[in-house]
Amino acid sequence: MAERMLQFVRLSQAQPEKRDVAARRADFGEIYHYEQFDAGGATQQASRCSQCGVPFCSVHCPLNNNIPDWLKLTTEGRLEEAYEVSSATNTFPEICGRICPQDRLCEGNCVIEKGFESVTIGAVERYITDTAWERGWVKPPRPRSELAQSVGIIGAGPAGLAAAERLRLRGYQVHVYDRYDRVGGLMIYGIPNFKLEKAVVLRRWQQFEAAGIHFHLNSAIGRDVSLAELRERHDAVFIATGVYKARDIDCLGSNLSGIVPALSYLTASNRSNLGDAVPDFASGALDAKGKRVVVVGGGDTAMDCVRTAVRQGATAVTCLYRRDKANMPGSMREVKNAEEEGVEFAWLAAPEAFLGETAVTGLRATRMHLGLPDATGRQQVAPIPGSAFTIPCDLAIKALGFDPEDLPHAFDEPGLPVTRWGTLKVHHRTMMTELPGVFAGGDIVRGASLVVWAIRDGRDAADQIDAYVRAKAGGKLAVAAE
Ligand code: FAD
Ligand code: SF4
Ligand code: SF4
Repeated sequence: MAERMLQFVRLSQAQPEKRDVAARRADFGEIYHYEQFDAGGATQQASRCSQCGVPFCSVHCPLNNNIPDWLKLTTEGRLEEAYEVSSATNTFPEICGRICPQDRLCEGNCVIEKGFESVTIGAVERYITDTAWERGWVKPPRPRSELAQSVGIIGAGPAGLAAAERLRLRGYQVHVYDRYDRVGGLMIYGIPNFKLEKAVVLRRWQQFEAAGIHFHLNSAIGRDVSLAELRERHDAVFIATGVYKARDIDCLGSNLSGIVPALSYLTASNRSNLGDAVPDFASGALDAKGKRVVVVGGGDTAMDCVRTAVRQGATAVTCLYRRDKANMPGSMREVKNAEEEGVEFAWLAAPEAFLGETAVTGLRATRMHLGLPDATGRQQVAPIPGSAFTIPCDLAIKALGFDPEDLPHAFDEPGLPVTRWGTLKVHHRTMMTELPGVFAGGDIVRGASLVVWAIRDGRDAADQIDAYVRAKAGGKLAVAAE
């Protein structure tokens, strides 16, 4: 069947088509016409792969997905097998297919890119798994036999869930604790619907429940249950609490009302779309409707804020970023989407002061210029004297990134060592902290990162936890009584 592959020489790259901009602006639905891509387009696109002997796409996928194999199986119409291969290395292929920055990972390293453009790996990955869901091939991760040993997981984000799935498959009694009322971490309350519809996350939750994973929601470790107690209850503990402390803007007027952190804003929007009663959204404090909005920051969170504001009916939306477009940390795909949806960008501009009596009415900003690179190779920015300008606004959103909470303090565990950035320190191979049997992974170890890296950490940690518990039990694990 190899002759069906290598079609990149005659077939151009095609991504799923985007919905019309006016329609996109009017609702929170995902922005792609997946149904058109699924009807034939995905199979054709998969056939563009040249089946490299050393697949750089896989090397640069954090999960080392077996991409050439599932592309070939898709081309041959063997979708159930394609799903088996793709789900063997990825807990959430349909989510990564939607929200990974593929241009920086798998697709950005596809060897046919030069002159022909890469294979549309992410879109095909999503197609395979969405089809698997439609046809009932996605089954709860049920073990062959039950073990008596249990693992406690703190955090139901992608890192915690990936570990939970893998440990459950091996028969462990898995207990996931989360301070939120829903499962998914930032996939449910951070990332907006137009990138990742919540039904896609919620159906995974149902599968995990059906697999016998125990979820203890509205349960904050350090407040409702102590880490010490969890260590008593379980044979091992995995900390996957993410990073949530918003970086602040230190300038005049930053205590005015109408200046809000990005995650509060996005969480309110996501909750409201999920049908929850959100008092700060209902009061208008976290709703951009009818307002002039300024978002400060240049990462993916900033892009999610500006695009959410557009959909809520803001009258004007501006993104203020101190470097230029080429130096933005966010994905270029998301910047392009935002531009198409009518967001204005004020490049090379930094906030100087928020204006207003009690509520914000404007933001005074200074123009910046890019100077010489520093030791890290990144160009330094410096203000241009006398270049101040004002952007009127009724809602200002701070999207400058996140730091970890002080976990040793929150968990009352001074023995938990942290790095100078406040992230948890773990042994690089075993992923264990200084506390025996306490492992950690995902954003709380890496700093703000990506869903796909959190999945990788969760899966790796599960392997390490399994090895630790087995070694502690002398190599033989007890089978749970029926
Ligand atoms: P999280 O997803 O943050 O999950 C941590 C969980 O731990 C949460 O559910 C939290 O409630 C819980 N928790 C925290 N403390 C406690 C406690 N004390 N007790 C109990 N539970 C606790 N990545 C991408 O790949 N693509 C994207 O497009 C993308 N967009 C993003 C958009 C936004 C707005 C943000 C903020 C992030 C985005 N990311 C994106 C990054 C991605 O969401 C994170 O890297 C990923 O979710 C980290 O996974 P995690 O499991 O480590 O932590
Ligand atoms: Fe690409 Fe992400 Fe899928 Fe890996 S998980 S193949 S990086 S889309
Ligand atoms: Fe196929 Fe590109 Fe991966 Fe090569 S690098 S195996 S062409 S997807």
